[in-house]
Amino acid sequence: MFFSTQNITRFAKLETPFYYYDLDLLQQTLERCAGAAKVYNFHVHYAMKANFNTRVLERIREAGLGADCVSGGEVARAVDSGFANGQVVFAGVGKSDKEINAALDLDIFCFNVESIQELEVINELAAARGRKARVAIRINPNVDAHTHHNITTGLDENKFGINSWDLPVCADMLKRCPALEFVGIHFHIGSQITNLDVYKNLCVRVNEFATWFEERGFVVKVLNVGGGLGIDYHNPEGQIPDFEAYFKIFHDFLSVRPNQEVHFELGRALVGQCAAMVSRVLYVKNGKKKNFVVLDAGMTELMRPALYQAYHQIENLSRVDAGGTSVKYDVVGPICESTDCFGKEVELPESKRGDLIALRSTGAYGEVMASKYNLRDEIRSVYSDEVQ
Ligand SMILES: *Cc1c(COP(=O)(O)O)cnc(C)c1O
Repeated sequence: MFFSTQNITRFAKLETPFYYYDLDLLQQTLERCAGAAKVYNFHVHYAMKANFNTRVLERIREAGLGADCVSGGEVARAVDSGFANGQVVFAGVGKSDKEINAALDLDIFCFNVESIQELEVINELAAARGRKARVAIRINPNVDAHTHHNITTGLDENKFGINSWDLPVCADMLKRCPALEFVGIHFHIGSQITNLDVYKNLCVRVNEFATWFEERGFVVKVLNVGGGLGIDYHNPEGQIPDFEAYFKIFHDFLSVRPNQEVHFELGRALVGQCAAMVSRVLYVKNGKKKNFVVLDAGMTELMRPALYQAYHQIENLSRVDAGGTSVKYDVVGPICESTDCFGKEVELPESKRGDLIALRSTGAYGEVMASKYNLRDEIRSVYSDEVQ
């Protein structure tokens, strides 16, 4: 079980809210992923934006993964945390000159370039420093990820990547620019993808684009297919994503040339299930039409529900074996926004002030999205090896 009786007893003495990390589950998840990738000699970079908690990063580095960064801050943190510079990649539609220069000085493995203009700028900045920048072209493949609208990134209407009609200009520029070294092509079509067929469609497009570059005389050393593998938010207990099935699709559907490397950038699937946010009931308000449970955690500690109507399983840890009546509650936070609501009509055991409430599957895009809005306290973390 994610929460042992011991855990819950210990939590009762702790100040809430906090993120609770099960480091053993994280470890098992990382080992399963690394093992499944190794079968095909696939390379996995961890998408750091999902969670850059120090202890989480430490485990990920120890598991031998690289780092996929989307800001200068993340690049610096990855290197400071001991990730090898040659295992750091840098994506993002809006890399500033300062961020590009810092990454050039760190000699990271590769920039995943998202526009023609960015290619020009990286060339200029690299030349000015007497360096060569390794670049992969992030292509927008117009593949529908069949996920929530707000976390879809690979359609023509999205801001990410270079559109296929701009590739001829891109290829010319790569040939003309002496400070650029082309290493491959990059894709990332969205997040929380649960329909694995989507990845078959992606593979077909990747093969087409790789061929397109080869036909123009480029050596495509790296096929980077991004991340996005989803997790089961509705059944969090004991869940490790099916990495075997995921990697097998790419093995089956990608045409990989000899000496070509296949790179992945997984975030959520690696860390999503290893944490829960634990909070306390401050107040119970019973109305005629609605019952509210007001928690001491809100959208400032966990933004996903307010940001994209995300579902997190909600549990009352203080009444796990309570028989008796269950009540439907709107579970809300203390923040002065109506979207500060973790779930509507959530069935829970009858809940009282002081009860511990857990929101499951908050290891990805949880702690890292915490904000200071309403001048809230900084969110704390508690680790399984501290409370056993
Ligand atoms: C966010 C992101 C990822 C990881 O997405 P997950 O859904 O967490 O796996 C991978 N690559 C890029 C470029 C990203 O921006």
